[in-house]
Amino acid sequence: MCGVFGVMGHKNAARLTYLGLYALQHRGEESTGIVSYDKKRTYSHQGMGLVADIFDEKAIKSLKGNIAVGHVRYSTTGSSLSSNIQPFLVKHRSGHIAIAHNGNFTNTFELREALEERGSIFQTTMDSEIIVHNLAYNKKLNYQTKVINALAPLEGAYSLVMMIDDILVGARDPHGFRPLCLGKLEGAYVLASETCALDLIQAEYIREIEPGEIVFIKDRNIESIKPFPKKKHAFCIFEYIYFSRPDSNIFGKNVYLTRKRLGAQLAKEFPAKCDLAMAIPDSGSYAAVGFAEEAKVKNEIGMIRNHYVGRTFIQPSQFIRDFRVRVKLNPIKDVIKGKRLAVIEDSIVRGTTSRARVRTIRSSGAKKIHMRISCPPIKSPCFYGIDFPTKKELIAANHTVNEIKEFMGLDSLKYLSQEGMLKAMLLPECEFCTACFSGKYPTKIPKKFSKKMLEKKGKC
Ligand code: AMP
Repeated sequence: MCGVFGVMGHKNAARLTYLGLYALQHRGEESTGIVSYDKKRTYSHQGMGLVADIFDEKAIKSLKGNIAVGHVRYSTTGSSLSSNIQPFLVKHRSGHIAIAHNGNFTNTFELREALEERGSIFQTTMDSEIIVHNLAYNKKLNYQTKVINALAPLEGAYSLVMMIDDILVGARDPHGFRPLCLGKLEGAYVLASETCALDLIQAEYIREIEPGEIVFIKDRNIESIKPFPKKKHAFCIFEYIYFSRPDSNIFGKNVYLTRKRLGAQLAKEFPAKCDLAMAIPDSGSYAAVGFAEEAKVKNEIGMIRNHYVGRTFIQPSQFIRDFRVRVKLNPIKDVIKGKRLAVIEDSIVRGTTSRARVRTIRSSGAKKIHMRISCPPIKSPCFYGIDFPTKKELIAANHTVNEIKEFMGLDSLKYLSQEGMLKAMLLPECEFCTACFSGKYPTKIPKKFSKKMLEKKGKC
């Protein structure tokens, strides 16, 4: 879970990157950074927290040059440390390198071990640092060959935006797990995780960076290569279900309309005897539109979200039960009381938040609560960049749907089928990664990776 952004050839490169990151904030709230370059030196500003809190006018003005790369981070591999903030910047004898990475490599530990053996000294616990060491290795090669050699040994997921001196590089792994798109603004090229970032700066959408593609942008020229053997595509389906912003288009389709179709498919598979449908906002809102339309029931707003809830606040001790949930979402009792509800949510991960939400709906006087989930049960962890807990904590990996229904205090609980989910994509020719539902991973997951990674996260 991270967002990347880059601009080449614009006098306001850093300001545009700031705005791009602002639009990508949902992809990571833990830390953020921007690096720019003015042909003489690099400039960097970064910090732990939200884009709006880390950058002020002074910081943006200090980021000189017509090339900039930026990142918003949610830690997956690597701990939540300030040394792990991206873009990862190094000043090396062969130049300045800054890397912003979305995704996770699956062979991190083998690669790190091999590099350390060769003498590399790592500064962070991030998998992305491997690219820097690979890039720095052979200074005699030209930059294109260096990039190819640096990316060739990587397995797993990467959508990358890199700055190598005054060259902007965009790259997507051959499976294409995470999105990455290309835009243009006043002759300058822009790279972004999602199209919503292009919209904000009014850049024209050009196309997606294709799986296995590397683009090199120098001044206002772009060169594209596909140096790696083709691999089976594995677009992350969870980007559509939960992660990407609904106003973005990824993998060739709009996210909102896809979520609406997921909701409609859910209504076809599992209608509910109800007086009204309501979403758990915001994540369930889009599927709820499709569900209600298909089921021909009223779609009501049954809960209001407080948009000003920060990530940390003072907990008013135990005397207010479910405070964390209540402060974020407040049910409208007059809508809910005495009603049979179809409650639409996009996904259940641990089940704990959903359980507390159901409890507040019940305490508002709902007569029946039929919960409908717009994806199948999440049973397996993600090794490609979505921050899911370990199998032990995934409720659907350890309990039947009926047990989850009982745990949450529901009258009924139904999940969308895997076939229904794929059908709703309207992309029959596309191949998705559905590993979190099916347990079928599109790449090899080395045992060492999983165990060590979980140890690093303090999860086992
Ligand atoms: P829970 O009931 O605790 O599993 O929480 C379910 C909620 O978490 C739903 O509203 C989902 O939209 C949301 N969610 C789904 N995936 C993630 C994720 N990777 N990180 C944080 N929240 C998520």
